[in-house]
Amino acid sequence: MQPVSTQVVVLGGGISGLTAAYRLLQQGCRVRLLEASGDLGGLGGTFEHDGRVMERFYHVMLDSDEHLLGLLRELDLEERVGWRETRMGFLYGRELSPFNTPVDLLRFGALSVAGRLRTALGAAYTAKLVRNAEKLDDRPVSEWLRGIYGPEVYARLWLPLLRAKFGDLHETVPAYWFWARLKREKSKTKEVKGYVEGGYRLITDRLRAAIERMGGEIRTRAAAEAVQETPLGIRVKVAGQWESCGAVISTVAMPILKKIARGRLADLTPRTDLVYQGVVNVVALCRQSVMPYYWAAAVKEDFGFQGAVETTNVVPMVQTGDRRLLYLLNYCQQDSALYSLDDAELKRRAHRAIQDLHPGYPSNAVETMKVFRAPYVEPVWPLGYLKQRPESRVGDSRLYLSTTAQSYPRVNSWNTMVGIANEVAARVAGELTENTSGGIWPERQSA
Ligand SMILES: Cc1cc2nc3c(=O)[nH]c(=O)nc-3n(C[C@H](O)[C@H](O)[C@H](O)COP(=O)(O)OP(=O)(O)OC[C@H]3O[C@@H](n4cnc5c(N)ncnc54)[C@H](O)[C@@H]3O)c2cc1C
Repeated sequence: MQPVSTQVVVLGGGISGLTAAYRLLQQGCRVRLLEASGDLGGLGGTFEHDGRVMERFYHVMLDSDEHLLGLLRELDLEERVGWRETRMGFLYGRELSPFNTPVDLLRFGALSVAGRLRTALGAAYTAKLVRNAEKLDDRPVSEWLRGIYGPEVYARLWLPLLRAKFGDLHETVPAYWFWARLKREKSKTKEVKGYVEGGYRLITDRLRAAIERMGGEIRTRAAAEAVQETPLGIRVKVAGQWESCGAVISTVAMPILKKIARGRLADLTPRTDLVYQGVVNVVALCRQSVMPYYWAAAVKEDFGFQGAVETTNVVPMVQTGDRRLLYLLNYCQQDSALYSLDDAELKRRAHRAIQDLHPGYPSNAVETMKVFRAPYVEPVWPLGYLKQRPESRVGDSRLYLSTTAQSYPRVNSWNTMVGIANEVAARVAGELTENTSGGIWPERQSA
């Protein structure tokens, strides 16, 4: 392949932006990455406490995460991934019970015996029997689940979980998304999750080092303020200055892109109207374990959170300085009352929630609590989204996308985003090569 001299600007320093920059450099492009915050890692970013580095939001990997594991292999990190079998719990009313095996289901007191049987049959059907699953893209998940599981199981089990994940918009989320998720998480009898020794910060650090070694430039505290086409290419405004380049890859959420896209790009960019769920979570750093489960879904009116994740059932305690980490979380929109609850109230709720999960838990075993929020986690997928999912290139422009808005119906994860970034980077490198040899964009070059 002939070397490409044209520069690519990547917007965002989360896993998508870092992977895209790394791949572009491997393919001979010159790259500059702009990150708005002071840190790399995006939603997989970290905080420091007492000299230890921990994730702001719970993060683990699955053994089926082929794209992410492939990247870790290249970065010499695959050997450092430790795997642990995990279990799920269910807090229903006052009872926290295991929810993993057929025996757990038979004992699950929140459902009638008929409901338990229907749940088992429904799970087998959704995992194995559905053919032509793409048809589910036009079918609301609420209607589909009600049909399979019946009104009791739907109302007691699924409705609270859907409400928790998507709020009032849950009725119109496509069944296709849900089916893909169930299939991914429950495709094996054992649930195994992995964490890289050194944490997600180590992955980000290795990527940064590899990018800089290959001559790429990374700028933090450098928010893209505008993106606009020019007769010869495309340009990005940062710190009040325009910088021209041959192509831009945006990894930011579509509503952010809507704010910064100018001129024709503003008209061409698809689905900038997507509504996103954000997240607010309290991380409790504890001296004792709160629960034996990696995660527990919660259906209890005054619990205050939609679920709890004790990551140290996977994350080695050497990472946390022998602390247990419990994440209590709520997915919600950034303009909701829940999102803007003040930190003190969230911590009060978190202390109560710990008592619900583990009655009599000593309050002095909680060393401290931290609160983190993120406004854009994942779009609330509308019906028929498969047909509306953005392409990786915005029309015939030089703006490309590598964002969670393209992940549907796959789960929003580092693995999915590495896969998307790999593809987009290959496309950009290929099209830049064609461009430098007079292939594409000729009318814009001569304009
Ligand atoms: C609570 C929670 C739990 C999760 N658990 C897991 C898990 O267990 N396993 C897993 O694999 N995934 C998990 N995920 C999902 C995972 O975090 C995401 O899929 C992934 O981080 C998305 O990466 P990204 O680079 O596409 O986007 P982001 O991480 O959102 O990165 C986008 C970046 O763009 C930057 N930016 C924004 N505006 C601008 C601008 N104008 N100019 C420049 N930069 C800008 C942002 O600051 C950010 O750094 C979880 C997410 C959350 C919130």
